[in-house]
Amino acid sequence: MSKQLHREKILAIKPYVPGKPVEEVERELGISGVIKLASNENPLGPAPAAIRALQDMAATVSVYPDGNCYYLKEALANHLGVTPANLIVGNGSDEIIKMIAEAFLDEGEEAIVADPTFSEYDFAVKVMGGRTIVVPTKDLTHDVDAMVAAITEKTKLLFICNPNNPTGTKVGKAEITTLMERVPAGVIIVFDEAYYEYVMDEDFPQTIEYVKAGRDVIVLRTFSKIYGLAGLRIGYGVSTPELIGMISRVKEPFNVNLLAQAAALAALNDPAYVTESRQVNEEGKDYLYQEFTRLGLAYMPTHANFIWVQIKADCQRVFAKLLRLGVIIRTGDIFGAPDVIRVTVGTSAQNKRFIEALAAVLTEEGVIG
Ligand SMILES: *Cc1c(COP(=O)(O)O)cnc(C)c1O
Repeated sequence: MSKQLHREKILAIKPYVPGKPVEEVERELGISGVIKLASNENPLGPAPAAIRALQDMAATVSVYPDGNCYYLKEALANHLGVTPANLIVGNGSDEIIKMIAEAFLDEGEEAIVADPTFSEYDFAVKVMGGRTIVVPTKDLTHDVDAMVAAITEKTKLLFICNPNNPTGTKVGKAEITTLMERVPAGVIIVFDEAYYEYVMDEDFPQTIEYVKAGRDVIVLRTFSKIYGLAGLRIGYGVSTPELIGMISRVKEPFNVNLLAQAAALAALNDPAYVTESRQVNEEGKDYLYQEFTRLGLAYMPTHANFIWVQIKADCQRVFAKLLRLGVIIRTGDIFGAPDVIRVTVGTSAQNKRFIEALAAVLTEEGVIG
Protein backbone atom coordinates (compact mmCIF):
# COMPACT_ATOMS: atom_id res chain seq x y z
CA MET A 1 0.00 0.00 0.00
CA SER A 2 1.44 3.36 -0.96
CA LYS A 3 1.44 6.01 1.69
CA GLN A 4 -0.73 9.11 1.45
CA LEU A 5 1.17 12.22 0.38
CA HIS A 6 -1.04 14.95 1.78
CA ARG A 7 -1.82 15.78 5.41
CA GLU A 8 -5.29 14.43 6.18
CA LYS A 9 -6.33 17.73 7.83
CA ILE A 10 -5.98 19.78 4.65
CA LEU A 11 -8.91 17.92 3.10
CA ALA A 12 -11.13 20.03 5.38
CA ILE A 13 -10.10 23.09 3.32
CA LYS A 14 -12.12 23.88 0.21
CA PRO A 15 -9.83 25.04 -2.61
CA TYR A 16 -10.12 28.79 -3.17
CA VAL A 17 -11.97 29.54 -6.41
CA PRO A 18 -10.50 32.74 -7.85
CA GLY A 19 -12.53 35.08 -10.05
CA LYS A 20 -11.35 35.84 -13.58
CA PRO A 21 -9.23 38.95 -14.17
CA VAL A 22 -11.38 41.97 -15.04
CA GLU A 23 -9.58 42.21 -18.42
CA GLU A 24 -10.60 38.65 -19.24
CA VAL A 25 -14.22 39.33 -18.28
CA GLU A 26 -14.17 42.35 -20.61
CA ARG A 27 -12.68 40.32 -23.45
CA GLU A 28 -15.23 37.52 -23.09
CA LEU A 29 -18.20 39.90 -22.87
CA GLY A 30 -16.87 42.13 -25.64
CA ILE A 31 -17.28 45.23 -23.44
CA SER A 32 -14.91 47.60 -21.70
CA GLY A 33 -15.03 49.66 -18.54
CA VAL A 34 -16.15 46.84 -16.26
CA ILE A 35 -16.27 48.04 -12.64
CA LYS A 36 -15.36 45.80 -9.74
CA LEU A 37 -17.22 46.56 -6.54
CA ALA A 38 -16.46 43.17 -5.03
CA SER A 39 -13.29 43.41 -2.94
CA ASN A 40 -13.67 46.58 -0.88
CA GLU A 41 -10.74 48.30 -2.56
CA ASN A 42 -10.32 52.08 -2.46
CA PRO A 43 -12.00 53.33 -5.67
CA LEU A 44 -9.69 56.36 -5.72
CA GLY A 45 -6.64 54.13 -6.14
CA PRO A 46 -3.41 54.52 -4.20
CA ALA A 47 -2.37 57.84 -2.66
CA PRO A 48 -0.24 59.85 -5.14
CA ALA A 49 2.55 59.89 -2.53
CA ALA A 50 2.56 56.09 -2.53
CA ILE A 51 2.81 55.98 -6.32
CA ARG A 52 5.79 58.34 -6.23
CA ALA A 53 7.47 56.18 -3.58
CA LEU A 54 7.01 53.12 -5.79
CA GLN A 55 8.54 54.90 -8.77
CA ASP A 56 11.46 56.12 -6.67
CA MET A 57 12.17 52.65 -5.30
CA ALA A 58 11.71 50.62 -8.49
CA ALA A 59 15.43 50.60 -9.32
CA THR A 60 16.34 49.19 -5.90
CA VAL A 61 14.42 45.91 -6.06
CA SER A 62 17.59 43.94 -6.78
CA VAL A 63 18.27 43.99 -3.03
CA TYR A 64 16.32 42.14 -0.37
CA PRO A 65 13.84 44.16 1.65
CA ASP A 66 14.42 45.07 5.28
CA GLY A 67 13.12 41.95 7.01
CA ASN A 68 12.24 43.94 10.12
CA CYS A 69 10.40 46.80 8.36
CA TYR A 70 12.41 49.20 10.54
CA TYR A 71 11.23 52.55 9.17
CA LEU A 72 7.65 51.50 8.71
CA LYS A 73 7.47 50.15 12.26
CA GLU A 74 8.91 53.41 13.60
CA ALA A 75 6.29 55.40 11.71
CA LEU A 76 3.47 53.07 12.76
CA ALA A 77 4.59 53.13 16.39
CA ASN A 78 4.49 56.91 16.27
CA HIS A 79 1.11 56.90 14.54
CA LEU A 80 -0.45 54.48 17.04
CA GLY A 81 1.29 55.52 20.25
CA VAL A 82 3.01 52.16 20.74
CA THR A 83 6.60 50.95 20.34
CA PRO A 84 8.14 49.02 17.42
CA ALA A 85 8.24 45.96 19.73
CA ASN A 86 4.43 46.03 19.68
CA LEU A 87 4.32 45.58 15.90
CA ILE A 88 4.53 42.88 13.28
CA VAL A 89 4.16 43.59 9.56
CA GLY A 90 2.80 41.01 7.15
CA ASN A 91 2.34 40.24 3.47
CA GLY A 92 -1.21 41.50 3.93
CA SER A 93 -2.98 41.02 7.25
CA ASP A 94 -4.02 37.67 5.77
CA GLU A 95 -0.49 36.48 6.37
CA ILE A 96 -0.62 37.64 9.97
CA ILE A 97 -3.86 35.70 10.51
CA LYS A 98 -2.08 32.60 9.27
CA MET A 99 0.99 33.30 11.41
CA ILE A 100 -1.26 33.71 14.46
CA ALA A 101 -2.72 30.25 13.86
CA GLU A 102 0.78 28.83 13.32
CA ALA A 103 2.12 30.39 16.49
CA PHE A 104 -0.74 29.67 18.87
CA LEU A 105 -2.96 26.84 17.62
CA ASP A 106 -2.10 23.19 18.14
CA GLU A 107 -4.00 20.42 16.39
CA GLY A 108 -7.42 19.95 17.95
CA GLU A 109 -7.46 23.37 19.64
CA GLU A 110 -10.33 25.75 19.00
CA ALA A 111 -10.86 29.20 17.54
CA ILE A 112 -14.20 30.99 17.90
CA VAL A 113 -15.51 33.05 14.97
CA ALA A 114 -18.81 34.69 14.03
CA ASP A 115 -21.02 33.64 11.12
CA PRO A 116 -21.00 35.24 8.67
CA THR A 117 -17.52 36.71 8.89
CA PHE A 118 -14.20 36.88 7.04
CA SER A 119 -13.28 33.39 5.80
CA GLU A 120 -9.53 33.72 6.38
CA TYR A 121 -9.83 32.83 10.09
CA ASP A 122 -11.39 29.45 9.36
CA PHE A 123 -8.81 28.84 6.65
CA ALA A 124 -5.86 29.51 8.96
CA VAL A 125 -7.37 27.36 11.72
CA LYS A 126 -7.89 24.46 9.31
CA VAL A 127 -4.34 24.68 7.96
CA MET A 128 -3.18 23.99 11.51
CA GLY A 129 -5.65 21.17 12.03
CA GLY A 130 -7.58 23.20 14.60
CA ARG A 131 -11.35 23.42 15.05
CA THR A 132 -13.36 26.48 14.12
CA ILE A 133 -16.29 27.06 16.46
CA VAL A 134 -18.85 29.10 14.56
CA VAL A 135 -21.22 31.36 16.52
CA PRO A 136 -24.13 32.80 14.48
CA THR A 137 -24.47 36.57 14.43
CA LYS A 138 -27.53 38.24 15.96
CA ASP A 139 -29.09 40.84 13.64
CA LEU A 140 -25.96 40.40 11.49
CA THR A 141 -23.81 41.57 14.43
CA HIS A 142 -21.31 39.54 16.48
CA ASP A 143 -23.14 37.88 19.37
CA VAL A 144 -20.39 38.54 21.90
CA ASP A 145 -22.23 36.87 24.82
CA ALA A 146 -22.66 33.68 22.83
CA MET A 147 -19.03 33.82 21.69
CA VAL A 148 -17.83 34.07 25.30
CA ALA A 149 -20.19 31.23 26.25
CA ALA A 150 -18.56 29.10 23.53
CA ILE A 151 -15.13 29.30 25.19
CA THR A 152 -13.87 25.92 26.43
CA GLU A 153 -10.62 24.53 27.81
CA LYS A 154 -9.53 24.03 24.20
CA THR A 155 -10.15 27.62 23.06
CA LYS A 156 -7.00 29.51 22.09
CA LEU A 157 -8.27 32.25 19.76
CA LEU A 158 -11.42 34.36 19.49
CA PHE A 159 -11.77 36.51 16.38
CA ILE A 160 -13.76 39.75 16.39
CA CYS A 161 -13.99 41.23 12.89
CA ASN A 162 -14.83 44.86 13.61
CA PRO A 163 -16.44 46.27 11.48
CA ASN A 164 -17.53 42.85 10.29
CA ASN A 165 -16.89 41.74 6.73
CA PRO A 166 -19.37 41.01 5.03
CA THR A 167 -22.17 42.64 7.06
CA GLY A 168 -20.60 46.05 7.82
CA THR A 169 -21.81 45.91 11.44
CA LYS A 170 -19.73 46.91 14.45
CA VAL A 171 -19.27 45.77 18.03
CA GLY A 172 -19.43 48.84 20.30
CA LYS A 173 -17.38 49.91 23.31
CA ALA A 174 -19.61 48.49 26.04
CA GLU A 175 -19.70 45.02 24.53
CA ILE A 176 -15.94 44.94 24.05
CA THR A 177 -15.48 46.08 27.66
CA THR A 178 -17.70 43.21 28.80
CA LEU A 179 -15.85 40.78 26.54
CA MET A 180 -12.50 41.84 27.99
CA GLU A 181 -13.86 41.48 31.54
CA ARG A 182 -15.14 38.00 30.90
CA VAL A 183 -12.49 36.39 28.70
CA PRO A 184 -10.49 33.88 30.75
CA ALA A 185 -6.70 33.69 30.76
CA GLY A 186 -5.31 31.53 27.99
CA VAL A 187 -7.53 32.91 25.22
CA ILE A 188 -6.16 35.47 22.76
CA ILE A 189 -8.67 37.96 21.34
CA VAL A 190 -7.90 38.96 17.74
CA PHE A 191 -9.53 42.23 16.69
CA ASP A 192 -9.47 42.40 12.90
CA GLU A 193 -9.90 46.11 12.13
CA ALA A 194 -9.23 46.11 8.39
CA TYR A 195 -11.81 48.91 7.96
CA TYR A 196 -10.88 50.89 11.08
CA GLU A 197 -10.08 54.10 9.18
CA TYR A 198 -13.58 54.15 7.64
CA VAL A 199 -15.37 54.08 11.00
CA MET A 200 -17.18 57.34 11.84
CA ASP A 201 -19.13 56.14 14.89
CA GLU A 202 -17.94 57.52 18.25
CA ASP A 203 -19.00 54.27 19.91
CA PHE A 204 -16.11 52.25 18.52
CA PRO A 205 -13.63 50.53 20.86
CA GLN A 206 -10.00 51.68 21.01
CA THR A 207 -8.60 48.18 21.25
CA ILE A 208 -4.95 49.23 21.13
CA GLU A 209 -5.52 50.39 24.74
CA TYR A 210 -5.79 46.71 25.69
CA VAL A 211 -2.41 46.09 24.07
CA LYS A 212 -0.95 48.95 26.11
CA ALA A 213 -2.52 47.43 29.23
CA GLY A 214 -0.67 44.19 28.53
CA ARG A 215 -3.74 42.10 27.71
CA ASP A 216 -3.53 39.08 25.38
CA VAL A 217 -5.05 40.78 22.34
CA ILE A 218 -3.85 41.25 18.78
CA VAL A 219 -5.18 44.14 16.67
CA LEU A 220 -4.95 43.73 12.90
CA ARG A 221 -4.97 46.64 10.44
CA THR A 222 -4.13 46.80 6.77
CA PHE A 223 -2.92 49.04 3.94
CA SER A 224 -5.22 47.18 1.53
CA LYS A 225 -8.40 49.12 2.16
CA ILE A 226 -8.51 52.86 2.79
CA TYR A 227 -4.80 53.24 1.93
CA GLY A 228 -5.45 51.73 -1.50
CA LEU A 229 -2.50 49.32 -1.58
CA ALA A 230 -4.24 45.92 -1.82
CA GLY A 231 -2.08 44.80 -4.74
CA LEU A 232 1.14 45.28 -2.79
CA ARG A 233 0.06 43.03 0.11
CA ILE A 234 0.89 44.76 3.36
CA GLY A 235 -0.84 44.80 6.74
CA TYR A 236 0.20 44.84 10.39
CA GLY A 237 -0.56 43.49 13.82
CA VAL A 238 -0.35 45.32 17.14
CA SER A 239 0.13 43.31 20.31
CA THR A 240 2.25 42.87 23.41
CA PRO A 241 6.00 42.34 22.87
CA GLU A 242 5.52 38.79 24.21
CA LEU A 243 2.87 37.79 21.66
CA ILE A 244 4.65 39.66 18.84
CA GLY A 245 7.79 37.71 19.75
CA MET A 246 5.92 34.43 19.41
CA ILE A 247 4.36 35.37 16.06
CA SER A 248 7.79 36.51 14.81
CA ARG A 249 9.12 32.97 15.27
CA VAL A 250 6.96 31.71 12.40
CA LYS A 251 7.55 34.74 10.16
CA GLU A 252 9.43 34.29 6.89
CA PRO A 253 12.60 36.44 7.03
CA PHE A 254 11.65 38.65 4.05
CA ASN A 255 7.87 38.41 4.17
CA VAL A 256 7.11 42.03 3.22
CA ASN A 257 8.51 43.24 -0.08
CA LEU A 258 10.53 46.39 -0.51
CA LEU A 259 8.02 48.29 -2.64
CA ALA A 260 5.20 47.55 -0.22
CA GLN A 261 7.21 48.95 2.69
CA ALA A 262 8.05 52.13 0.82
CA ALA A 263 4.50 52.72 -0.40
CA ALA A 264 2.97 52.02 3.01
CA LEU A 265 5.32 54.51 4.65
CA ALA A 266 4.40 57.16 2.10
CA ALA A 267 0.68 56.42 2.44
CA LEU A 268 0.87 56.66 6.22
CA ASN A 269 2.43 60.10 5.86
CA ASP A 270 -0.45 61.33 3.69
CA PRO A 271 -3.38 61.63 6.11
CA ALA A 272 -5.19 64.02 3.75
CA TYR A 273 -5.69 61.14 1.34
CA VAL A 274 -7.30 59.05 4.05
CA THR A 275 -9.62 61.94 4.92
CA GLU A 276 -10.58 62.39 1.28
CA SER A 277 -11.19 58.65 0.86
CA ARG A 278 -13.40 58.60 3.93
CA GLN A 279 -15.34 61.58 2.61
CA VAL A 280 -15.94 59.90 -0.77
CA ASN A 281 -17.08 56.79 1.10
CA GLU A 282 -19.53 58.77 3.27
CA GLU A 283 -21.04 60.45 0.22
CA GLY A 284 -21.27 57.11 -1.56
CA LYS A 285 -22.98 55.50 1.44
CA ASP A 286 -25.59 58.28 1.58
CA TYR A 287 -26.31 57.97 -2.13
CA LEU A 288 -26.56 54.16 -2.06
CA TYR A 289 -28.79 54.15 1.06
CA GLN A 290 -31.13 56.60 -0.64
CA GLU A 291 -31.24 54.54 -3.83
CA PHE A 292 -31.77 51.22 -2.01
CA THR A 293 -34.69 52.81 -0.17
CA ARG A 294 -36.13 54.12 -3.44
CA LEU A 295 -35.87 50.60 -4.89
CA GLY A 296 -37.51 49.10 -1.79
CA LEU A 297 -34.42 47.09 -0.81
CA ALA A 298 -33.44 46.46 2.80
CA TYR A 299 -29.78 47.05 3.63
CA MET A 300 -27.54 47.01 6.67
CA PRO A 301 -26.15 50.45 7.55
CA THR A 302 -22.39 50.03 7.27
CA HIS A 303 -19.40 51.15 9.32
CA ALA A 304 -17.06 50.23 6.48
CA ASN A 305 -16.85 50.69 2.68
CA PHE A 306 -19.25 47.94 1.61
CA ILE A 307 -22.97 47.32 2.06
CA TRP A 308 -24.95 44.13 2.68
CA VAL A 309 -28.16 44.44 0.63
CA GLN A 310 -31.21 42.18 0.50
CA ILE A 311 -32.11 41.94 -3.19
CA LYS A 312 -35.18 39.65 -2.93
CA ALA A 313 -33.83 37.55 -5.80
CA ASP A 314 -31.28 34.80 -6.30
CA CYS A 315 -27.86 36.37 -5.84
CA GLN A 316 -26.14 34.15 -8.42
CA ARG A 317 -28.62 35.16 -11.14
CA VAL A 318 -28.30 38.80 -10.17
CA PHE A 319 -24.51 38.46 -10.16
CA ALA A 320 -24.51 36.98 -13.68
CA LYS A 321 -26.83 39.66 -15.02
CA LEU A 322 -24.92 42.51 -13.39
CA LEU A 323 -21.73 41.07 -14.84
CA ARG A 324 -23.18 41.28 -18.35
CA LEU A 325 -23.85 44.95 -17.62
CA GLY A 326 -20.22 45.35 -16.58
CA VAL A 327 -20.61 45.43 -12.80
CA ILE A 328 -18.97 42.89 -10.47
CA ILE A 329 -20.28 42.47 -6.91
CA ARG A 330 -19.94 39.75 -4.24
CA THR A 331 -22.77 37.25 -3.79
CA GLY A 332 -24.18 36.46 -0.34
CA ASP A 333 -24.54 32.70 -0.90
CA ILE A 334 -20.93 32.10 0.14
CA PHE A 335 -21.95 33.65 3.47
CA GLY A 336 -25.15 31.57 3.68
CA ALA A 337 -27.41 34.38 2.40
CA PRO A 338 -28.59 33.52 -1.15
CA ASP A 339 -30.79 36.65 -1.48
CA VAL A 340 -28.09 39.10 -0.52
CA ILE A 341 -25.26 40.88 -2.30
CA ARG A 342 -22.31 42.75 -0.82
CA VAL A 343 -21.32 45.80 -2.80
CA THR A 344 -18.27 48.00 -2.29
CA VAL A 345 -18.93 51.74 -2.15
CA GLY A 346 -17.30 53.17 -5.28
CA THR A 347 -16.82 56.63 -6.75
CA SER A 348 -20.03 58.55 -7.39
CA ALA A 349 -19.89 57.58 -11.08
CA GLN A 350 -19.41 53.91 -10.22
CA ASN A 351 -22.20 53.97 -7.65
CA LYS A 352 -24.58 55.49 -10.23
CA ARG A 353 -23.68 52.86 -12.78
CA PHE A 354 -24.16 50.10 -10.24
CA ILE A 355 -27.61 51.40 -9.23
CA GLU A 356 -28.73 51.73 -12.86
CA ALA A 357 -27.59 48.18 -13.57
CA LEU A 358 -29.15 46.82 -10.38
CA ALA A 359 -32.47 48.54 -11.11
CA ALA A 360 -32.49 47.06 -14.63
CA VAL A 361 -31.69 43.56 -13.36
CA LEU A 362 -34.24 43.64 -10.54
CA THR A 363 -36.90 44.94 -12.91
CA GLU A 364 -36.19 41.99 -15.17
CA GLU A 365 -36.34 39.68 -12.15
CA GLY A 366 -39.78 41.09 -11.28
CA VAL A 367 -38.58 42.33 -7.90
CA ILE A 368 -39.28 45.98 -8.64
CA GLY A 369 -42.01 47.42 -10.85
C1 LIG B 1 -9.68 42.89 3.33
C2 LIG B 1 -9.61 42.32 4.69
C3 LIG B 1 -8.40 42.05 5.30
C4 LIG B 1 -7.14 42.53 4.66
O1 LIG B 1 -6.45 41.60 4.10
P1 LIG B 1 -5.02 41.96 3.50
O2 LIG B 1 -4.39 40.62 3.55
O3 LIG B 1 -4.35 42.93 4.44
O4 LIG B 1 -5.24 42.50 2.14
C5 LIG B 1 -8.38 41.53 6.58
N1 LIG B 1 -9.52 41.31 7.23
C6 LIG B 1 -10.70 41.59 6.70
C7 LIG B 1 -11.93 41.40 7.48
C8 LIG B 1 -10.79 42.09 5.41
O5 LIG B 1 -11.97 42.36 4.87
